Formats: sequence, C-alpha cells, structure tokens
Amino acid sequence: MPTIETVPSFSGGVWSSLDATAYEEVFNPSTGTVIARTPLASAGQTAEVVEAAARALPGWSATPVVERARVMFRFRALMEQHFDEIAALVTREHGKTLTEARAEVNRGVEMVEFSCGIPSLIIGDMLPNIAAGVDAQCVRHPVGVCVGITPYNFPNMVPLWMFPVAITCGNTFVLKPSEKVPLSAVRLGELLAEAGLPAGVFNIVHGGKECVDALLTHPKVSAVSFVGSTPIAEYIYKTGTAHGKRVQAAGGAKNHLIIMPDADLDRTVKQLAASAYGCAGQRCMAGSLAVAVGSAGDPMVEALVDLGAAMKVGPSDGDESVAMGPVIRAEHRTRVATALENAKKDGATLALDGRERGMTDDAFLIGPSVVDHVTPEMRIASDEVFGPVLSVARVKNLEEALALGDACDYGNGAVIFTRDGYAAREFTRHFNAGMIGVNVGVPAPMAWFPFTGWNRSFFGDLHVQGTEGIQFYTRQKVTLTRWPRTDESHLDPVWRDAP
Ligand code: NAD
Repeated sequence: MPTIETVPSFSGGVWSSLDATAYEEVFNPSTGTVIARTPLASAGQTAEVVEAAARALPGWSATPVVERARVMFRFRALMEQHFDEIAALVTREHGKTLTEARAEVNRGVEMVEFSCGIPSLIIGDMLPNIAAGVDAQCVRHPVGVCVGITPYNFPNMVPLWMFPVAITCGNTFVLKPSEKVPLSAVRLGELLAEAGLPAGVFNIVHGGKECVDALLTHPKVSAVSFVGSTPIAEYIYKTGTAHGKRVQAAGGAKNHLIIMPDADLDRTVKQLAASAYGCAGQRCMAGSLAVAVGSAGDPMVEALVDLGAAMKVGPSDGDESVAMGPVIRAEHRTRVATALENAKKDGATLALDGRERGMTDDAFLIGPSVVDHVTPEMRIASDEVFGPVLSVARVKNLEEALALGDACDYGNGAVIFTRDGYAAREFTRHFNAGMIGVNVGVPAPMAWFPFTGWNRSFFGDLHVQGTEGIQFYTRQKVTLTRWPRTDESHLDPVWRDAP
C-alpha cells in the first residue's frame, strides 16, 4: 500500500505535518481512491496558528498598502504561470471537469486583480474646514486577525474571495479550508510565500468542528468569513458575533429559473442544463427549480431530457471530453439518489432519472435528472439537493412565479428567460433574491461586485467581493484636527493676516 500523504499546515511561515488525533480522507472523486489525509487540529493546535497570525500583524499592517499590493501583483503572475497545474489540482480533489476548474481559477485570479487595485479603493475621505479651523478625515484601518472557513465546492475560488482582500487591506489571515479539498489551499499558500508574503501573514489550519469553534472564540480573532451550508452558516454567525467578531456567513440556496412562454427554447434549455448540471450541480448558484410559465413546460422538459440523456458523464480527471464529472463523495451520491426517491414518493415524475447512470462506478458518478410536476409542498421544491437535479414546477403566470420566490427561505440567485422587457423588469424588481439574471443562466457576480445572497442564504451585512469586501476587512477612523494660531512671529505678514 502506498503511504498516504498528510496535508501540511502552514503557521508563521513554516509548513508542518500536524500530529493530530483524527484525520479526514481526501478522495479523487474520479477514481474513488484516497489521495491524502487531512489532519483535524485540536483547539490548542488551532490557537497556536492564530497566535502566529497575531504576531505578524503589527509589521504587516504597518507595511505601506502599495507594497502589500505588490505582493498581490507577484501572486497573480505566479497564478497565471501555474494556471493549468492549479486547475488540474482542483479537478483531482473535487471532481469538476477541467473546463469548470479553469473557469473557477479564472474567477479566483480576478479576485487577486481586484486586490491589486486596493491602494486606489482604500483611499479615505477628507473635508477641510468642516467647522471654522477644523479639518475632518476618515481613513480605513485593518481589523486584525481574520479567519476564512470555506466549503468543498470551490476549493480555489472561495478562499480567494477572502484572503487577497483581507491581506491587502493590512490584516493577517488564518484559512481553514474544507477538510474534503485541502490541497488547492496548500498550493495557494506556497505561491503566496513565493510571491514574497512575509511569514505569518497567511496561515492554514485544517480541521472540523473543534478547530472551527476554537477560531470562533479566540480573543485575537477579529473577523470571520464563512461560506458553506445554511445550518453551519447560521451557527458560525451566531457563535462568532456572540464572541465579538464581525462575521459574514454565506449559506445554501434554492435558485429559481423562470421560463416565460416567449423564451428562445433552444438557447434557454442549453442554459438551464449548464446551470443545473455544471459542476454536477454542486454550486450555490446552480439552478435547481425551473418554473415554467404557461405553455413553456412541455417543450422545455422534452428538450431538457434529450439534452441531459446525451451528456457525457464520467471521470473528469484525465478526460477532457467529459461534460459532467462525479460528485464529491459516495455518500453524497447516495444523498442525491435519496432526494430523487423522495421526490417520486411525494408524487413528482422522474422525467430523467440520473440514478440509471454511474451509481455503481468507482467514480462517484450520478447522471443528470429532470424531476417534473414538482409542487410547493414536496421536499424537493425547497430542499437544497446540491447535485445534478433540475426540478420543474408549472405556474400560470409571472405573478405565481414571483409568489414561489416569496415563499422560498433562501435568496441567492434567480433567473428569467424571456424576450419581454416588461416581464424582465418586473422580475428584476420584485423577485425575492439578491443575484438576478436576465437570460443569464448563472448570475454569479464577478470580483468587482458584491456576492449578494439574501434571506437564509446569507447571515451578516457586508458580503464578499467588491467594495463590500474592503468594508468588511477594514474599520474606519475619523479624525478631527484643529491647529490654532500660536506664535506668528516667523510668518510673513501676508500669511499672518490671512483668514
Ligand atoms: P459545510 O457547511 O458542510 O462546510 C463548510 C465549512 O464548515 C467546512 O470548512 C467545514 O469543515 C465546516 N463545518 C462543517 N460542519 C461544521 C460544524 N458542525 N461546525 C463547524 N464547522 C463546520 O458545506 P460544504 O458541504 O462544504 O459546502 C456546500 C454548501 O456550501 C452548500 O450548501 C452550498 O450552497 C454552500 N455554498 C454557498 C456559497 C454562497 O456563496 N452562498 C458558495 C459556495 C457554497
């Protein structure tokens, strides 16, 4: 048996193999084999990493922001240089196709590019003579040690939503990646060190609940960024804020895709499939409930079934022709299969049953599914499946489609497919979600705009990305200054008499 490598931790600039009491296996979902093991840090081991980040804080926060940004320029160049290798690593530990992995890494690079511009974005405000002889200025300071706790579905991009902005704003950072996909985070840490980031500014600790709880309660942690499922997001928000941290916690989703009868069928069905089956449905912005308005339903379902059945499903590691790869774990495949069985029991129709493909393979495969005639009381209408499953509900008009959105607990993304500007405008204004697409299947905002989940898709007020990210990772200081005249003997009479 080959030895299974323990994923290294990174603390104070030193890589080490943590001596843990428990480990989580990392799989290649395309082969079903174990490729590494993640050590689960104890509370004490976690606290040591926070201390390392705290020690690096005074030096890094005093480093001019222009120099901090230069590290990001070098880091960006290294990411470009190693682009294919990073994408291949994402595919290997996650299972998404190489095309999807490249798209993910691109989104991550964009976050680094955004961070390179922080010297311009962090400039403060100043108003001279706000009162007689008094000047006012408002500047942004770093908040301190920041923590990122990330999910398995974007091993590269989601950490990059957080630490480039936090670090360039002058904070130090502790990343706790998903224990299922820790290898991409390690590679990012290596490249940051190569880019010249000083020791202790960026650190990685691996772990589960004990490690997370230690981060949420440590007195030297100032801010916590979380992305993951809704129950954990809510827990992180409540626990972190109860311990005096500022917290942004993004959760799960149930994204509605509204199809109006006038939508271009061919284009719409391609986008529906890309939205629901991309990354095997494991995206927080994946379309999961198609809401067909009026006569749109039958032709749409027929075309979707044809398209889904023709998709090449298979191991993604090493085969670029595969359209949809595996899901993250064998247990997750079973969870998706159970959701399909429950939908059938609840009275829905499995127009395309993904369980007919891949369920017994070594790779954690399950084919795309179309679940038709879904009604609001069925579990699949409101539960996040997080697999390649598109449910279809039928409604009479746009008002009914908006009402389904109002009843939804989540509020990440929603999309309308139509050629009618009025319907698009009504939908954009009134749908109960924070990220809206008009004829765009996955309306995930890019680095320059905030990732604005609503309702139980987000806990907190400042989101990741865009200038909201900068606001989250900084606190403002307002200074009022008065310099009264004192000894004026050295001044030229012209200045002495000035008002
Ligand atoms: P998850 O909630 O299981 O895990 C996320 C992180 O929380 C991991 O680092 C994990 O180690 C940690 N964690 C898990 N259980 C914990 C516990 N009991 N106490 C403390 N920490 C715990 O999520 P996941 O399965 O890795 O990711 C999928 C979920 O993430 C989906 O619900 C998806 O919608 C969501 N997601 C949301 C967004 C967004 O922007 N809203 C983006 C990506 C993923």
